Amino acid sequence: MMARSTSALLHIGLLTIALFGFGLAPAKAADYISEAEQVTDNVYAIIGPLGQRSQDNAGLNANYGFVVSDSGVILIDSGASAHSARLLEQAIAKVTDKPIRWVLNTGSQDHRWLGNGYFAQQGAVVYAMQGTPETQERFADQQMASLKGFVGEQLDGTTPKVADHIVPAPETELEIGGVTLQWIQTNSHYPGDTMIYLPESSVMFTGDLVYVDRVFSVLPQSDVRAGAAAFDRLVQVNPAFIVPGHGRVTDLAQAQRETGDYYEFLIDNVGEAGRNMESLQDTLDQFDKPQAFMHLQNFDDLHRSNMNRVFVDFEANPDQ
Ligand SMILES: [Zn+2]
Repeated sequence: MMARSTSALLHIGLLTIALFGFGLAPAKAADYISEAEQVTDNVYAIIGPLGQRSQDNAGLNANYGFVVSDSGVILIDSGASAHSARLLEQAIAKVTDKPIRWVLNTGSQDHRWLGNGYFAQQGAVVYAMQGTPETQERFADQQMASLKGFVGEQLDGTTPKVADHIVPAPETELEIGGVTLQWIQTNSHYPGDTMIYLPESSVMFTGDLVYVDRVFSVLPQSDVRAGAAAFDRLVQVNPAFIVPGHGRVTDLAQAQRETGDYYEFLIDNVGEAGRNMESLQDTLDQFDKPQAFMHLQNFDDLHRSNMNRVFVDFEANPDQ
C-alpha cells in the first residue's frame, strides 16, 4: 500500500515537472479571459497574454489599467477594437458598477487606442498627450489593415478615433475625478508615447516603455535613445508598483533587468558599433547571445531584428 501511494505521488510529481518543464505561459492565448487584478488601493490592471494578436485574445495582448474614483472609472488604454473594448468593459464591471468616464491613451500601438470610439460612444471623454494623436492618425490605416489579418470580423464596428482632450507635452500634472496624475512623455516605442503615474498610490503605467517576461521589440518608428532617457526618468520617479506595457505587474528591479538594461545593452554595444561603422554582420554575430536576456519570451524572434534596427539607426545618426 505504502509503496503504491508513494509511487503514485511520484508520478504526479513527475507530471507536474513535465508540464512546467515545457514552460507553459501563465496566460495561454487559447483560454485568455480579460480579468482585473488589484494593484493597490483603487488601482487595477488587466494583464494580457505575451504572444501575438489573435481571435482568442481579441488583440488584447497588452496591459490595461483602471482607477476607480468617487465619480467614475478612469481607464488607461482602450483595447484593439470595439469588440475588445467591450471585453475590457466587462472585466471592469466585475469590480465596480461605476461608469467609465475617462479614457487615457498612453500610446499609439493599435491595442492602446482603437477601442476609443466604443468608449466615446458610451459617453467617455478620451484624453491623450500632445504628440500621441498625431502618431495615431499616421498609423491608423496601416494598423486597421494589419489587425484585420489577426482578428478578422472582430474588427467590425471599429472606427479609429483620436482623443478629444489633449494635455501638453512633455510633462503634465492633472486631476481627473479627484485622482492626481503625472503624465510623462517617453517617445520610445512610437513617437509621442507616454507613461502615467499615480503619486497617491505610487503606481506607474509605463505604456510600451517597459516590457517584462518578454523582450521588447524595436520597430522602425522606435527610438531606443528616447527609451533609455525615459527609463532614467522612471527610475527617478521610483514607483512602488509598475504596470508595464506587457508582462506581469512588477517593480523597478525587474523592469531594470529586463528593459532598462536591454536599452543600455543595445545602445552601448550595437549602437556604438553602428556609430563607428563597424561590420553589421560581425556585430550581430558578436552580440547574438546576451545571457541576461535570452530567457525572455520572444527573444529568438526579435533580438536580431532589434539589433539590426539599432545598428542602422546609429549608423545613420551617429551624433544623436
Ligand atoms: Zn505594446
